Amino acid sequence: LNPENTNFTNEELDVEKKLRPLSFDDFSGQDQAIENLKIFVEAANQRDEALDHTLFHGPPGLGKTTLAHILANELGVSIKVTSGPVLDKPGDLAGLLTNLDERDVLFIDEIHRLSPIVEEYLYSAMEDYKIDIMIESGPNARTVQINLEPFTLVGATTRSGLLTAPMRARFGISSRLHYYTTELLTTIIQRSSQILGVPISMEAAIEIAGRSRGTPRIANALLRRVRDFAQIKGDGTITIEIAQYALKALNVDAHGLDEMDNKILTTIIDKFKGGPVGISTLATAVSENSETIEEVYEPFLIQQGFIMRTPRGREVTDLAYKHLGRVKGTSQGE
Ligand code: ATP
Repeated sequence: LNPENTNFTNEELDVEKKLRPLSFDDFSGQDQAIENLKIFVEAANQRDEALDHTLFHGPPGLGKTTLAHILANELGVSIKVTSGPVLDKPGDLAGLLTNLDERDVLFIDEIHRLSPIVEEYLYSAMEDYKIDIMIESGPNARTVQINLEPFTLVGATTRSGLLTAPMRARFGISSRLHYYTTELLTTIIQRSSQILGVPISMEAAIEIAGRSRGTPRIANALLRRVRDFAQIKGDGTITIEIAQYALKALNVDAHGLDEMDNKILTTIIDKFKGGPVGISTLATAVSENSETIEEVYEPFLIQQGFIMRTPRGREVTDLAYKHLGRVKGTSQGE
């Protein structure tokens, strides 16, 4: 259950869509961000203007894409969706931009992965709603300036620090998403079960929520898998017994830590005596790139109190030793 895993089958994609909240009212959590966004949207609606360009940053699966769709719904406009790595030529971007209607939303996921040329091209679109396009080629080649409709760019990135400073400066609104509490995830699971038409006990919802790594996408994915167990091993209802049985069979850790989370902790303990260890050394030791560790794994481990960031590198905490059943000062095999 990699939080970055988006290799869904078609059927799973349909379910994903069904579970996606469509309005601010359907969306649980991120209260501060939502409260502000509601005001900005209402003000833009009253003035009949495009919403300011908006940046969402935070670990995967916390609702950035969902919020982009909600913004478009609440603004009463259409949304076009693309992502940084897909847009490799300014021409691709020009096509999208010129097709936007007034106040529409253009959502660019992984906006930190835009190529520098495309990024630069985006600047004037964002700032003045104008772009230059090249017409004809060879000796007749020339650029013409085109006016765009006022639009809202919604960008998503796992870390705002990955954006270039000029890009970051062009977003009037910037919202950081945080991991969800077990309580909020319980509400999300209950809502999703209702949509899926599968009865679930309160206890079972809490159990799944507590193992969802603070992430709604994981909560929904676990719910779908537990539902299969309820259907085959039980009578279709997700009881606490079924939930525990399924989570055990799925190898889901009591804290919701996944395989890579656990590998990071055991590596720091076994190979680096608990740390401190530099991020690039750690990345090599666990065969993952350091960007992914910093964006996807580390924030959760820090938030849960398993890792500390020190000036000399990453250190595991007493809680990590306890969680792994290790004694400080020893490593496995010693
Ligand atoms: P990525 O950046 O990797 O695309 P994301 O942060 O955009 O991830 P989403 O795709 O928006 O995440 O959310 C993942 C799933 O979690 C969605 O299917 C959505 O149904 C659910 N979800 C996210 N946030 C909430 C929420 N606050 N309430 C209910 N469901 C949510």
